[in-house]
Amino acid sequence: MPELPEVEVSRMGIAPHVTDQRVTQLVVRNPKLRWPIPEDLYQIEGQVIRAVHRRAKYLLLETDIGTAIVHLGMSGSLRVLPAGIPPEKHDHVDLCLASGEVLRYNDPRRFGAWLWQPKDSEHSVLSKLGPEPFSDAFNAAYLQEKAQGKRTAIKTFIMDNHVVVGVGNIYANESLFAAGIHPKREAGKIAPQRLALLVDEIKAVLAFAIEQGGTTLKDFKNADGKPGYFAQELQVYGKAGQPCPRCDKPLSEAKIGQRASVYCSACQK
Ligand SMILES: [Zn+2]
Repeated sequence: MPELPEVEVSRMGIAPHVTDQRVTQLVVRNPKLRWPIPEDLYQIEGQVIRAVHRRAKYLLLETDIGTAIVHLGMSGSLRVLPAGIPPEKHDHVDLCLASGEVLRYNDPRRFGAWLWQPKDSEHSVLSKLGPEPFSDAFNAAYLQEKAQGKRTAIKTFIMDNHVVVGVGNIYANESLFAAGIHPKREAGKIAPQRLALLVDEIKAVLAFAIEQGGTTLKDFKNADGKPGYFAQELQVYGKAGQPCPRCDKPLSEAKIGQRASVYCSACQK
C-alpha cells in the first residue's frame, strides 16, 4: 500500500509534467473506484493545472475553478506517458494534457479515488485531518497536549489521522523503534521529552523514505514498467525474529489495533 513517502514521490514525479499544462481530455474507463468518480470531475477539461500539492495521502491537482483530489488507495499508481499508448488492464483514468503527455492512473484493487473539490470549498475527505508531519504545527507541545490522558497505545495514537496525517504502519514501527518507545505504551503516560523525540523521529523517518524514493523518479516516464513502491532500508518493519539492529536480541511481533507491530522488547520501553 502506498504510504505518505510514495505519495510525495509521486507528487514530485508528476509535478514537472502536469504543472501549467492544460487538460485536453479526461478519460474514465472504469468509474467504480472506492467512491464512484463524480461527473463533476469532467469540469477539469479545458483547465490549466496550476500546482500539484499533497495533503495527507491525497494528491491535489489545482486549477482555477477547483481541485482534482487523487488517492492511490491500496494499489494505485500514476505514470506519465506519451499520448497514443494503448491502456492496459486496470488503467482506469487518463488525464490528457496539451503537451501530448498523459497522466495515467492504474489501480488493480480499485480502492483509490478521483474526486472533485470546487474552488473555495473543502471536500469532506480533507476536513478534520490532523497536521502534516513536516509542518511546524506538528511539534512536541502539540503532541503532548493531544496525548494528555489518552490510554490508547502510542502506535495506534500516532497512526490516527486526527492526531497527525501520513504515519502509516511501516513508519509508526520505524519511528517508535528510533525513539526507543514501546508501541503498546499508553500515549498519555509517556514523558514529554520522549514524545518530543518521537516527533523528531517521525519527521526524520518519513524524510529519509522520501529521499530514498526520490531515486526512483525516472520511472515516471517509463512507458513499460510501473513506478512500483520503492524498496527501503528499514530497521524493524517486516523483520520479526531477526536480530535488533541495536542490541542483537530477536525482534518481537504483536498485533496492536489489528496492525502488525515489530519492536525490540529490550530497546523500546
Ligand atoms: Zn534492541
